[in-house]
Amino acid sequence: MPEKARRAARPERVAVIGAGMSGLACAQTLAEQGIHVTLFDKARGPGGRMASKRRPTATLDLGAQSFTVRDARFSQLIESLENQGVVACWPGASFEVSDAGWAKLDDDQRRYAGAPRMSAITRELANRLTRFDHVKTHFDTRVQTLTKLTGGERDWALCGDQHQPLGAFDTVVITAPPPQAEALMGEWDLTLARACSARAQRSCWAGYVVFETPLPPIENVTRWDTLHARHPALRLVSRNHTKPGRGHQPESLSLLAQLDWSEQMLERPADEVACALYAAFRSLLPRNVVLPDIVELGAHRWRYAQASAPGSESYLYSEQGLALCGESFRGSRVEDAWLSGRELGNALLELPESYQNQTAV
Ligand SMILES: Cc1cc2nc3c(=O)[nH]c(=O)nc-3n(C[C@H](O)[C@H](O)[C@H](O)COP(=O)(O)OP(=O)(O)OC[C@H]3O[C@@H](n4cnc5c(N)ncnc54)[C@H](O)[C@@H]3O)c2cc1C
Repeated sequence: MPEKARRAARPERVAVIGAGMSGLACAQTLAEQGIHVTLFDKARGPGGRMASKRRPTATLDLGAQSFTVRDARFSQLIESLENQGVVACWPGASFEVSDAGWAKLDDDQRRYAGAPRMSAITRELANRLTRFDHVKTHFDTRVQTLTKLTGGERDWALCGDQHQPLGAFDTVVITAPPPQAEALMGEWDLTLARACSARAQRSCWAGYVVFETPLPPIENVTRWDTLHARHPALRLVSRNHTKPGRGHQPESLSLLAQLDWSEQMLERPADEVACALYAAFRSLLPRNVVLPDIVELGAHRWRYAQASAPGSESYLYSEQGLALCGESFRGSRVEDAWLSGRELGNALLELPESYQNQTAV
């Protein structure tokens, strides 16, 4: 059960820190009920761990590679995004590679991806917010400090990293990964700070490679989109150009590293990590496969990639108007992040979760 403290009043002016899935869901839920919402993200655009890298010829998903839909509320959202062409089913033919070779992984999970990139989803969700006059969004804006104003019971002043004032709010929702959330509000709320400390985050390197020409076929493999590996460095290879809306793009792969390996390599230069992940991928291919020339090779470090263990609550908030939600609360999936934000929004409004416990059919 989510930890709740009774609030004195419905929020009126809410700051949401983070425009990933959870922050966007929370902002939308509040905005629909007429609440004034100001959304901040330190990045140039929305996305967070749904980020995609746009290169001259290819788009690479660096965070979430695909996602599943289980909950009826999330299913409704995905259907609307599908109708807009921003999401599509990704066949995602999965293989596993072991000493015995490549074997098809059969599961009946329907997987989705953003079209033409994962971050198209969060961009559309941010666009939907612009329809509300009472919502403001600020990108390229890192919230550096949070200060409790004297006089008011629940008033918070936010400041940016150039010491610029970002406004005063009765409620502040923080969706940043727990270590970053704790740095912001730790001195103001010991209970929430402890909850953040208890949610350790794992790191993950995400390599990427763009090729000049398509990869040669692998013997006995008709089509592959993802490859699960038990290599010490590499855990997942994902073919970006087979995702929806990217048919015209050259062959490109995302190379997600093992978490233990990522943590050992955390402070190594990105070039070195990229080369190691590429070498790991090569080692998984049959010896006779000759790889095409590389156009670009790189790696992105997610210092805070995922919670080491899923939380038992969907969100947390305190009566003084501080709230936490996001990936570390409900679970480490795109759907969980969105549900965490939405459920927090409804809890702040004291609205019932009308579809609670329903699952998608
Ligand atoms: C490598 C990787 C692979 C993954 N693969 C999958 C997958 O295949 N399927 C799946 O379902 N899920 C996957 N996930 C998980 C999924 O991406 C996350 O659960 C989800 O995107 C988290 O959303 P969020 O809103 O909770 O957090 P985030 O997306 O991290 O959003 C938090 C936002 O807060 C912003 N922020 C932080 N601090 C500040 C500050 N001080 N001021 C302003 N802004 C700030 C950040 O810029 C960020 O945009 C993956 C994640 C990673 C990292």
